[in-house]
Amino acid sequence: MAFRATVLTLYPEMFPGHLGFSLAGKAAERGQWSLDTVQIRDFATDKHRTVDDTPAGGGAGMVLKPDVLARAIDSTSENDTRPRLLMSPRGKPLTQERVRQLATGDGVIIVCGRFEGVDQRVIEARELEEVSIGDYVLSGGEPAALIVLDAIVRILPGVMGNDLSGLHESFEGGLLEHPHYTRPQEWEGHEIPAILTSGNHGAIEKWRHEQAVVLTKERRPDLIAAQKAGKAG
Ligand code: SAH
Repeated sequence: MAFRATVLTLYPEMFPGHLGFSLAGKAAERGQWSLDTVQIRDFATDKHRTVDDTPAGGGAGMVLKPDVLARAIDSTSENDTRPRLLMSPRGKPLTQERVRQLATGDGVIIVCGRFEGVDQRVIEARELEEVSIGDYVLSGGEPAALIVLDAIVRILPGVMGNDLSGLHESFEGGLLEHPHYTRPQEWEGHEIPAILTSGNHGAIEKWRHEQAVVLTKERRPDLIAAQKAGKAG
């Protein structure tokens, strides 16, 4: 069965956004994945179709109401075993490993927060997995949902033109990727490193791996430390 994404949002017009283009767009046309949206506001019951209210305990901003959001979630997920994610800066930071796990499943349900966030009780009662795309605050979960889906869709089987191109990528094997070069051979006085045009595939592989290690040590020592900790534990 093709991968199926359902996004709950107050702004369904923001989808499929960039996922309608390029590899993801073509893959959707081929039926390799699909995206549908649910307008959370459709589950409000008062005549003003209210979805938010002031925070209990006071303070700035508004909070998404648990009853409205729960009805929206329940409308999509009865007898549905897809993971339910909530985009949230308080969530576990998204990793390529989690992306890979999600891509092997049937699909995802993604809830996009707005305002100050959503009522804590609905997170617990509907077992939402809070996922963050990084340590900064967006104005809404929609761009985060598009990013999560982008990362998943590009690794679905048959979506990338050349499936091998995923093998050496950044974060696969806990390293950042080696640098890339292409023609012209000389550009603004700089040559492509000679080894890459030597035709010696073994030496090229070795060079690329060394470059990846140097780059990762320099820019992301945390990735090396995490790998060491993982091996030890
Ligand atoms: N008051 C909240 C921020 C709310 S931002 C706090 O300080 O934690 C509004 C919405 O944007 C959130 O509910 C969430 O859905 C989304 N969002 C903001 N930053 C995000 C991030 N880094 N990752 C994922 N979603 C994010």
